[in-house]
Amino acid sequence: MPRPIQALIDLSALEHNLSVVRRHAPHSRVMAVIKADAYGHGLLRAAEALARADGFAMLELDAAVRLREAGYRQVILLLEGFFDPDELALIEQYHLSAVIHHSEQLAMLSASRLRGELSVFLKLNTGMNRLGFTPEEFPAVLETLKAHPAVKQITLMTHFASADEPCRNDSIGVQLQRFNAVANGRHLPRSLANSAAILRFPETHADWVRPGIMLYGASPFMDTAASELDLLPAMTVLSKIIAVQTLKAGDGVGYGHTFRTSRSMRVGVVAGGYADGYPRHAPTGTPVMVNGKRTRVVGRISMDMLHVDLSEIGDAGVGSPVTLWGKGMPVDEVAQSAGTVSYELLCALAPRMQKLT
Ligand SMILES: *Cc1c(COP(=O)(O)O)cnc(C)c1O
Repeated sequence: MPRPIQALIDLSALEHNLSVVRRHAPHSRVMAVIKADAYGHGLLRAAEALARADGFAMLELDAAVRLREAGYRQVILLLEGFFDPDELALIEQYHLSAVIHHSEQLAMLSASRLRGELSVFLKLNTGMNRLGFTPEEFPAVLETLKAHPAVKQITLMTHFASADEPCRNDSIGVQLQRFNAVANGRHLPRSLANSAAILRFPETHADWVRPGIMLYGASPFMDTAASELDLLPAMTVLSKIIAVQTLKAGDGVGYGHTFRTSRSMRVGVVAGGYADGYPRHAPTGTPVMVNGKRTRVVGRISMDMLHVDLSEIGDAGVGSPVTLWGKGMPVDEVAQSAGTVSYELLCALAPRMQKLT
């Protein structure tokens, strides 16, 4: 038997979650965000399940080319655009769309000899202060793009800094207002909303929505579970117990003995550690499912193993199934316990992890 840890990818959950996006934003086209190997789910596998999306967005040029070569005809958008003038030829050849967020990119484009039908997403910085032109720079940039012979389509785009904060959130309003002030009257398609904005701010939906995390069945909000949003987990990380230790009161568990038993108890050793992508910072108490029952991680996470409390799971032993996250064990809860977000756990899945559908 191979080492018993694997990530099961549920294609029907991805499909279902896409339908949840459609339900929330029925008048928008959907750009499925599949950056970072589709948040760890596998690029081509996820694209297949999300094949009814109107477009795909990612950062990596090679991934975009692979997707096009796999036969997808939709819009494929490079979210950071290009980094080097050499990439423009491939972008043209494969009919990829590119974000333009910086004057360096504008200069590369102007210097290029492209004569194709380039579709660009002109990115505005409305307050995130990460990528994009300021509202002041925008008119001149737009004129330059309009005058370029290779640019056939321009979509206006921005990204929200805090769509995931609790409701009655003013910063969305401020960013939306800045965006509209610049975009109104231009008659160009628009794209603003990530998952959080899709779910909570319908006024941001516009022509293209850009869901990421919700497609994978995790919640973009700290205060709302994915299940309450009708999202289904697309990734379940399963393993097994490979050893059981019966301990006396006062025994230490694992590296540094960061957990000590207060009474006699059984702990299970699970095949799964930080080299598989389980967060090393997950403290004692992090939830985990063994034999279909919730229990907790105890002690420090090792590279290849972790310990779980079996004191309430009398029937568990070597070979018992363990769910580290996924169906029955929301990744959001594990992430929160480890002081991070589901995004990080999903896309930090280790290359050695076997992925099955
Ligand atoms: C990653 C990303 C998204 C998707 O965000 P989620 O919070 O995962 O929905 C949308 N737009 C841009 C520009 C992104 O970088």
